[in-house]
Amino acid sequence: MRYDSMKQLIKLAGREKSKVGEIVLAVEAEQEGESPDTIRGQMVISWEVMKQSLEKGVTDDIQSVSGLSGGDGKLFFSRIPKYIGQDISMTVARALGVAEVNAAMGRIVACPTAGSCGIVPAAMTLAQAKLNVKEENIITALFTAAGIGIICSTKASISGAEGGCQAECGVAAAMAAGALTELAGGSPTMIGHSVALCLSNMLGLVCDPVAGLVEVPCVLRNAGGLMQAILAAELALSGIKSRIPVDEVIDAMREVGEALPESLRETALGGLANTPTGNRYRKRVG
Ligand code: SF4
Repeated sequence: MRYDSMKQLIKLAGREKSKVGEIVLAVEAEQEGESPDTIRGQMVISWEVMKQSLEKGVTDDIQSVSGLSGGDGKLFFSRIPKYIGQDISMTVARALGVAEVNAAMGRIVACPTAGSCGIVPAAMTLAQAKLNVKEENIITALFTAAGIGIICSTKASISGAEGGCQAECGVAAAMAAGALTELAGGSPTMIGHSVALCLSNMLGLVCDPVAGLVEVPCVLRNAGGLMQAILAAELALSGIKSRIPVDEVIDAMREVGEALPESLRETALGGLANTPTGNRYRKRVG
């Protein structure tokens, strides 16, 4: 078995009457020459690391070396939200917290990158809180997320330097959207729509890290990406379809990324990095 596109992955899941995550796991095991149990065990270890960073991000007093980030996850975690429910508010706090753990050089799982590491793990905690899903289903959903990330990385990019932040936080959000859709009982076709809807809403997002550090706006973009993932999953689960097929959306992301000027691809020469305040931060920490 192999897949090079979302269309092929969705077709395989339908043919095998399997979850998308199970197909991704089976293909990975085949390619690595390992047993599915071994590959699954590796994901269990990754999930354990994710859980540690989720906890740390909202309980520890985190501060990055530069002083540009830290403390927002913990602050948001204890807050009573005004417009969103408590569960989503705490999930947003966790996304911020994990990204802050990364900024402070703590241990995280890059998914797909370190800069966007908060979105997928935080989304998993929302599924646990709202749907009471079992750990084994979280592991399978992480394979679903991984499959989406693999396709985006081969068809387009998961690098801010190549494709802007749409390729990092955008892809992370798409991975989380697909995993959330699967965990809520969505079909493989719905997973495809969730990915397409999510990426469509994040197309064109630039990479403009202040002072060249993965802190501002990166930490907050994890919160934004998470909200887009939740929205896309809900849209897809309601039966709303992306009018543009998911693989074409991923191709469009590649095209948009290639069209971005160099100043907006992780060079810290444009966008927020090139604002008067962004430049002052650069001088201060540089
Ligand atoms: S702004 Fe750039 S460095 Fe920061 S998370 Fe997005 S892609 Fe990564």
